[in-house]
Amino acid sequence: MVSNKLDKIKFCKNCVESNQRFMGSIQHLDTKDGIKQRTSFDEGICGACNYFEQKKTINWKDREKELIEILDKYRRDDGSHDVLIPGSGGKDSIYLSHILKYKYKMNPLTVTWAPHIYTDIGWHNFQAWQNMGFDNELHTPNPLVHRKLTKLAFTNLLHPFQPFVLGQLNLAPKLALEKKINLIIYGDAYFEKGVGGNLYNISGFQNKDLFHSDSENLYFGGVHMSELEKYGISKNDLHPYLPIRNKSEEIKKLTVLNLPYYLNYNPQSNFYFASENSDFKVNPYRSEGSYTKYSSLDDKLDNLHFYTWFIKTGRGRATEDAALEVRNKIITREEAVMLVKKYDGEFPKKYFKEILEYLDMDEKKFHKIVDSFRPEHVWKKKGSKWELRQAVWMK
Ligand SMILES: [Zn+2]
Repeated sequence: MVSNKLDKIKFCKNCVESNQRFMGSIQHLDTKDGIKQRTSFDEGICGACNYFEQKKTINWKDREKELIEILDKYRRDDGSHDVLIPGSGGKDSIYLSHILKYKYKMNPLTVTWAPHIYTDIGWHNFQAWQNMGFDNELHTPNPLVHRKLTKLAFTNLLHPFQPFVLGQLNLAPKLALEKKINLIIYGDAYFEKGVGGNLYNISGFQNKDLFHSDSENLYFGGVHMSELEKYGISKNDLHPYLPIRNKSEEIKKLTVLNLPYYLNYNPQSNFYFASENSDFKVNPYRSEGSYTKYSSLDDKLDNLHFYTWFIKTGRGRATEDAALEVRNKIITREEAVMLVKKYDGEFPKKYFKEILEYLDMDEKKFHKIVDSFRPEHVWKKKGSKWELRQAVWMK
């Protein structure tokens, strides 16, 4: 039986994932809080672990053939771009764009929605990616608007990344229509990172409903779009964050693929690929809230993002990283449990000053907002300290 009763916290028996994990950070704009689903659990095993097991039954040669047939339909020889690849310059985008250009002989245009504040290593890796031989469209959103939306999303949803996620999600299909590129390929192996899935229900084609809405009832940062003027955000300001509107006929022309359906790779193998084939660098120190040095490195607000997730679900970045490494047999479950105990939920102090400046608030207000989002079934207060009610490392 697949069920996930939220007030009962459970941890996967195989890895260390929690049933509280959100099903990705893709937002549903027709609800105020934007989150609809959590990861699935089947007899104590999380969706991502089930996905790993099912992957062993796939005939990857046949899947690659399917991919090549689709690429053949879209490949152009007149010099114009034939595929759009959204990415940041992390290990996944490096692998995806390299293989499409140099193995499958496509002519990609890469597209990037800029982070809130680039880290030095993020900017370095972004350039290392382009230096492998790619054209790129870098969209840097109006910082004044982006800050206002981020502040609303932090204050009302404790989801400071919502505007980023929306901008990134909606930029690629809009640009594809504008540039008349009819194929978009995503490479993020998100089924492997805790979302999970049933391979018999997963398709290589992305559901395009996500990119399109004509509704006037959408929420941004927990605020109805008609109310945003009050916060100094005009209709024009909002435009880059909106899904495609009034163009349902044109969207039919777009084909949007998920590459992990067709090729057998994972975030770890992408890391080795990026290190060998580009000037991709990892941090000399571990990421806050985890023990790894190689994922989500490009934005000074990344650590805040993982921290807010920890507050809302009781599981953070170390859980995410350790669970994946258990599935890939890099570490054992026992090691993962210890790593989660040691690092999960670490406060993002490295860039905290910049985070407060970005959100335009003081420390007191920051903590007040954070504490108001601690769910009763996840947290208890002991004196002045907050403690998890349950964790994977507790007996
Ligand atoms: Zn698991």
